[in-house]
Amino acid sequence: MAIRVAVNGYGTIGKRVADAVARQADMKVVGVAKTRPSFEARSAVAKGFPLFVAGAGGAADFESAGVPVAGRVEDLLRLADVVVDCAPDKVGKENAKLYRDAGVRAIFQGGEKADVAEASFSALGNFDACRGKRSLRVVSCNTTGLARAASVLLPRWGVESWEATLVRRAADPAETKRGPINGILPTFQLPSHHGPDVRTVFPDLPIATAAVVVPTTLMHVHTNAVRLARPPAGTAEVVAAFRATARFRLFAGWERVDGTPQVMEFARDRGLGFSDMMENVLWEDGIRLEGPILHFFQAIHQESIVVPENVDAIRAVADPTATAAASIEATDRSLGLRRN
Ligand code: NAD
Repeated sequence: MAIRVAVNGYGTIGKRVADAVARQADMKVVGVAKTRPSFEARSAVAKGFPLFVAGAGGAADFESAGVPVAGRVEDLLRLADVVVDCAPDKVGKENAKLYRDAGVRAIFQGGEKADVAEASFSALGNFDACRGKRSLRVVSCNTTGLARAASVLLPRWGVESWEATLVRRAADPAETKRGPINGILPTFQLPSHHGPDVRTVFPDLPIATAAVVVPTTLMHVHTNAVRLARPPAGTAEVVAAFRATARFRLFAGWERVDGTPQVMEFARDRGLGFSDMMENVLWEDGIRLEGPILHFFQAIHQESIVVPENVDAIRAVADPTATAAASIEATDRSLGLRRN
């Protein structure tokens, strides 16, 4: 029987998760919940997702906008095996009580603190340890990108130390209230919270991170310097390992992808839903092994990288037979992600 999935919060992440879940042969979207009517509420209905009222929202607001609703979020939870909370940062923690009262398994997002759920989740990183939990937190976009890279490096070569600088986008493309629009803002928390967040997946990883915010909406970029414990013979082995791993997309020099604008243009050309780029993006020319130190850049599409991980997290909590490899394969095939 299909896993019945509710999505509570239908914004940047929620609408993508709902679409991705609808593509899974073993899942069904039983409804999505939103606080207020908007073009996204209308498009949820147009896609055939039953729409429910969340949070402090009122059904009358939706009705006067001509957007039909099927009830309140509490009604939706009664129909679901799993709820994916995609409400704004920190609101998931408030919603957690609703989910416990409804006896429904819950997936939270990276805007919540780690203690919102039984464990933090990365599909490549710790699927097996998360299987059978009642609640999981899919780590944030930056942490998902770092955890995926750790999943490649740690088992092959070991990590003695890892320094990463995160060049963060100022806002998502549809966000009009965030900045800066001119300036570079260092984050005066040193090291930044991202390193400890990666350790919610890999507890012993010796990673330290720093972050700056820059005026762009097109992806984050990480610069990494990783001292490997047992380094391979050369850069080519590292390139081959990333290429062979699901959810990595490497660009060769001849592809002329100078930076994030061309990555997003590639994503538009490729034509997956929302023109998304759910893989970690690496440049072959941006990977270099110097002795034991591996240097590499990676770009992270903040709006979509966590989407496949949410699908896998649903299987981890709801399907006792699920394995990381089979889930990742099924998710990626359904979403049109291919190995390269
Ligand atoms: P968003 O603001 O785009 O969407 C949030 C949605 O939740 C909106 O539709 C809002 O109306 C709705 N909402 C508000 N209060 C609610 C409530 N009480 N119950 C249910 N829904 C409510 O936010 P987002 O960018 O999609 O972020 C959602 C979560 O995903 C956050 O934890 C965030 O940190 C995380 N995340 C965001 C990104 C990103 O770059 N946008 C990346 C990774 C993870």
